[in-house]
Amino acid sequence: MSTDNPSNEPARHDFSRHDFIRQIVRDDLACGKHSAIRTRFPPEPNGYLHIGHAKAICLDFGIAEEFGGRCNLRFDDTNPAKEDPEYVAAIQEDVRWLGFDWASLRHASDYFEVFYLAAEKLIRQGDAYVDDLTADEIREYRGTLTEPGRNSPYRDRGVEENLDLFRRMRAGEFADGARTLRAKIDMASGNITLRDPAIYRIKKVPHQNTGEAWPIYPMYDFAHSRSDAIEGSTHSLCTLEFEDRRPRYDWCVDKVDLAGHPELLTPLTDAGLPLEAARPRQIEFSRLNFNYLVMSKRKLLALVEEGLVDGWDDPRMPTLQGIRRRGYTPSALRLMVDRVGVSKQNSLLDISVLEGALRDDLDAAAPRRMAVVEPLKMVLTNLPGDHEESLAFANHPKDETFGERRIPFSRELWIEREDFAEVPPKGFKRLTVGGDVRLRGAGIVRCDEVVKDDAGNVVELRCTLDPESRPGMEGANRKVKGTIHWVSARHAVPAEIRLYDRLFTVPDPDVDDGGKTYRDYINPESRRTVTGYVEPAAAEAAPEQSFQFERSGYFVADRRDHAPGRPVFNRSVTLRDTWAQKA
Ligand code: ATP
Ligand code: MG
Repeated sequence: MSTDNPSNEPARHDFSRHDFIRQIVRDDLACGKHSAIRTRFPPEPNGYLHIGHAKAICLDFGIAEEFGGRCNLRFDDTNPAKEDPEYVAAIQEDVRWLGFDWASLRHASDYFEVFYLAAEKLIRQGDAYVDDLTADEIREYRGTLTEPGRNSPYRDRGVEENLDLFRRMRAGEFADGARTLRAKIDMASGNITLRDPAIYRIKKVPHQNTGEAWPIYPMYDFAHSRSDAIEGSTHSLCTLEFEDRRPRYDWCVDKVDLAGHPELLTPLTDAGLPLEAARPRQIEFSRLNFNYLVMSKRKLLALVEEGLVDGWDDPRMPTLQGIRRRGYTPSALRLMVDRVGVSKQNSLLDISVLEGALRDDLDAAAPRRMAVVEPLKMVLTNLPGDHEESLAFANHPKDETFGERRIPFSRELWIEREDFAEVPPKGFKRLTVGGDVRLRGAGIVRCDEVVKDDAGNVVELRCTLDPESRPGMEGANRKVKGTIHWVSARHAVPAEIRLYDRLFTVPDPDVDDGGKTYRDYINPESRRTVTGYVEPAAAEAAPEQSFQFERSGYFVADRRDHAPGRPVFNRSVTLRDTWAQKA
């Protein structure tokens, strides 16, 4: 589909993206280091993907696509206790939803057999040993940032003894944690991650992919680097916290030479690789972080498990499932990732960057509709009771290709309660008793009197429609201060409208402030459900269809609960940033 085009020609892809990673890829292709690039997106299936992962996905898949390469989706499933097929399925759905497809679907666990053989090779080379120290002892021997570590008394075991013990670990002869296989690197290294890291542990826990086949599991770094090598990854992109671990990554790659060792490859190894040249290079980039959100899988799991939200796809959650349900579009997320760019500087971005990308995307892409969120009845007393007409409205003010629709208009309407004020505040431009306002696309009305209930609440406005102000009439352009939207009471469809807002009230819910945690900052206003009225054309929406409800915000027909004729809409984002005004 895409071609290798390192020039600046405008194409399906935007080759003007010039971050440091793309520059490395461009250089590697130009100098012939690689003839084609291979990347992978390697989530651990221990939770749902979140907005941060969208950045990694756009880089891993996006760069492969832009430079004519291939990207695998690989589940780094080395920690069976926390992993689940539910996550495996959701992650695939999310990657596809973002608009990407993988060259090949892999699991680190597909390679367990060759990881095992690679570990035996390390042992035979004298590069790994079985340690009998307990986890606590290993920690104690490791030393600190200022003190070197000490060698384990088991570090100098002979190759034969190590092989025997490692095989018996695999055979399930020892208890969990009784022994580990460690890389023999350097206990005095200034880089703690090089002080003989564990590469295999005993853990008799069934695995989501391999079941009960293995009583031992490779450690993440070993499995990750080996997997990259086996798949012929050229550029292994990851987040900055892996920077310190890069020497260990390189060690794991370099100590097991794949060329000339077919037993260390799998039928899944990408065929025809010049393995020497394909030695993967780890490149770190900054994590995506936004204020007003928490984004670690552990905390998101806690929100779900403690019932603080309604599940992983609660529209207030920063999971891809959540923001999808909220009404975020794949193109808005890709736009956000482009705007944020790629660097090596971790930072906390303002949530308005995310919301702004959605507004800009939907401003161009979402048809307009009229909907009244908090209704107040308006009666046009000078129209007959059976008056009915249908008015033509453009579906988009800036794009004729959206076409037009017809909206019924009749004697009784719903308008937005906040568009009327009995005692108008200073500068109020909408409807007051004795005042005029324009009904969008229908003419100008004057409010003659209000009807109140016993409690004194205004329940109805009795108004006169100026016949000279109707569309096409001479007085249609008469100046009035405000224009409001409306729906015909007889034709509008009642809709459940969920008004979502930010989940947290403070920009840094994650900061531990005197014993408080993010749990204490949940915004009680983050969801308010009301019954409103939508014009018939909105009620017919398909699930996940987005609209701009004029003057109100962008709304999406709920993925799960909306049905044509029984509408349920989620507010994705308001038209303007109301938080900026509050601050
Ligand atoms: P978390 O820390 O939120 O639990 P994780 O890093 O453990 O996430 P993985 O499943 O290991 O999640 O991540 C898969 C890939 O996505 C990794 O390459 C990781 O670096 C990247 N990634 C995770 N979080 C972010 C983020 N906030 N911004 C950019 N990339 C991210
Ligand atoms: Mg992780």
